[in-house]
Amino acid sequence: MRGLSDALQRYARQISLWGLESQEKLASSTVLVVGLGGLGSAVALYLAAAGVGKLVLVDSDSVSLSDLNRQVLHWTRDIGRMKVDSAVEKLRELNPGVEIERVKASFKPTPKMRELVRAATVVVDCLDNWKSRLALNDLCVKLGKPLVHAAVEGMQGHLTVVAPGAPCLRCIFKNPLDRAPAPVIAPVPGILGAAEALETLKLITGYGKPLTGKLLVYDGFSNTVEVFEAERRPGCPACGRR
Ligand SMILES: [Zn+2]
Repeated sequence: MRGLSDALQRYARQISLWGLESQEKLASSTVLVVGLGGLGSAVALYLAAAGVGKLVLVDSDSVSLSDLNRQVLHWTRDIGRMKVDSAVEKLRELNPGVEIERVKASFKPTPKMRELVRAATVVVDCLDNWKSRLALNDLCVKLGKPLVHAAVEGMQGHLTVVAPGAPCLRCIFKNPLDRAPAPVIAPVPGILGAAEALETLKLITGYGKPLTGKLLVYDGFSNTVEVFEAERRPGCPACGRR
C-alpha cells in the first residue's frame, strides 16, 4: 500500500470496520469492469474511492449527449471522447493510488479478454446487452472467476453474484430480451452500480455476505427490494457440466 499514513487516513472510515488486513487485500486486488455506462460509472467510482489496487476498464464507445443523464463519470466536456479516457481522467483525480488499465474494445470472448478475466480477482458486468452478458458469464464460469452482475431498465434493476458452484446467469435468465435503447431514470443504474461495487468489496475482503446464489430485484417505483433464492438449472449450457 503506497504511503501508509495517507492510506490510513484516506480509508480510515472503512478500516475502522473491516480492519487493515481487508484494506490490504483490496490494495492487492484487480477488478475487471466491463462497460463504462451508468452501472460502470458507479462501480468504477466506488471501487477507486475504496482503494482497489488495480482497475481494468473495458469499453469501446465514445460519450454521447444522451449518456449524460445517468453515466456520471462522463461530463458535457467529454462528448465525443472515448469513455475509457474520460473515466481514467476522473478516477486518477479521485484516487491517484489506483492503477488503471484501459482496454478500448467491446467485450467478446477473445484470447485477450480470456487473459483479462483470468488475471482479475473479480469481474463486474456493467454491460447493456444480453449477448455480451451471457458471453461474459460463460467465460467467468469456465475460468471459475467470480462475476458480479446487474442490469437496469426504467425504474427497475436486478443484481446477483455468480461464483463456482452457484447458479449462473443462464440458470437464472432463460430467454432474456434486450430493449434497445432501454429507457432509464437517472439514479437507477447508480443504485445498482453502487450495489455491484459493494458486492465486489465483499467478495475481495470477506467482510459481509455476498449475494452468491441469490437474485436481488430492485423496484424504484416503490423503492423496495426483494431477494430470491436462485437455483442451478440441470443441463445449463454454461455451468451444467461442472
Ligand atoms: Zn448455469
